[in-house]
Amino acid sequence: MHFDFAIVGAGYAGSVLAERLASQSGKKVLLIDKRPHIGGNAYDYYNEDGILIHLYGPHIFHTNSPDVFAYLSQFTEWRPYEHRVLASVDGKLLPIPINLDTVNKLYGYNFTSEELEEYFKTVGEQVDKIRTSEDVVVSQVGRDLYEKFFRGYTRKQWGLDPSELDKMVTSRIPTRTNRDDRYFTDQYQYMPLHGYTKMFEKMLDNPNIQLMLSTDFREVKETLSYDQLIYTGPVDEYFDHCFGKLPYRSLRFEHKTVDTEQYQPVAVVNYPNDNAYTRITEYKYLTGQEHPKTSITFEYPQAEGDPYYPIPKPENAELYQRYKQLADQQPNVHFVGRLGTYRYYNMDQVVAQALTLYKKLIGAESLEDVV
Ligand code: FAD
Ligand code: UDP
Repeated sequence: MHFDFAIVGAGYAGSVLAERLASQSGKKVLLIDKRPHIGGNAYDYYNEDGILIHLYGPHIFHTNSPDVFAYLSQFTEWRPYEHRVLASVDGKLLPIPINLDTVNKLYGYNFTSEELEEYFKTVGEQVDKIRTSEDVVVSQVGRDLYEKFFRGYTRKQWGLDPSELDKMVTSRIPTRTNRDDRYFTDQYQYMPLHGYTKMFEKMLDNPNIQLMLSTDFREVKETLSYDQLIYTGPVDEYFDHCFGKLPYRSLRFEHKTVDTEQYQPVAVVNYPNDNAYTRITEYKYLTGQEHPKTSITFEYPQAEGDPYYPIPKPENAELYQRYKQLADQQPNVHFVGRLGTYRYYNMDQVVAQALTLYKKLIGAESLEDVV
């Protein structure tokens, strides 16, 4: 059978494009994924105890984009959820991002917001040009808070010192002098009411979309007939690593269900300095599910395994640029998504990137016109 588009990867990037092309442009789409399910890394499912968990670690939806939110709202109802995280430091569970309560509770101070601003000015280190993930934090909160909250976590998560990583990694976490203990401040903070997988099922429920799961594109590509290809897998793999491997960071997830109603005080507890895992997630906070037991996930960072995180550092950005040049020269092949464009993107950014590609493919003027 002939398709207008073959799309590799049924995560956000591939599914948004499949949905738009099939439902708005009437295109025949073949959507391929090597995994046995849709949703990519956002896939969730009910485990054997009947608790909704995220197979590839905690996914919390947040965005400032009205277009992205309006687009996804066609496929799901939402549950308001504001994410809160505690970090286990010096035997205490303290709010992260660092805020007024974090500092007061850690050191036993009684600062006001103004006093904390002054304090940060005295302990913050002078850095002429903020380049690295160390620079970002030491310039804002000084060395001691950096060591306690960021250095160990980052070394564990990335296998690199923060001084070796681009500033964008720790810039994801703000510093606050007020008492706002939310992890995100985006305008839209919601979880899909019935889970991510249900939302993806609704997106892909279209007779113009043929799904081919448990299929590696590399094994079937010679047998397929299509006009254009959209590729959301790792860009270096598409080109058989011809310039060398692009580094990705992986994780091992240890999922457990415990026979207690609540395991920890918030959805996520970070462990910057102790243990081999970085964080523990308890899903019932995210989903609002009521159940006498509770399911949790431990994340153990590792070098080998599924490619979860592009690693933001200058050498990797240079290597990616070589692949990008090659990618730009491929007629009728489009690279998109976290792996296809080697970008440390959140879900909403990938949706926006996919809608932008759709806009380009159909020659629309603005994102508003395509959602
Ligand atoms: P993916 O979801 O990775 O989809 C790519 C798909 O391509 C995969 O399903 C893969 O199997 C398939 N594929 C690859 N190669 C082939 C091939 N050769 N043949 C067939 N199929 C192939 N974002 C947030 O906004 N909030 C969060 O809280 C959040 N938490 C995260 C936690 C973790 C642990 C991780 C790893 C990521 C998190 N993210 C979060 C980021 C989010 O997962 C991504 O932004 C999003 O899922 C990327 O979508 P994608 O379609 O680009 O890639
Ligand atoms: N980070 C840290 N300590 C923390 C939380 C985050 O050092 O308690 C750093 C770490 O380098 C991490 C990055 O900030 O990889 C981004 O954190 P985020 O929670 O956004 O990571 P993700 O959810 O994408 O894994």
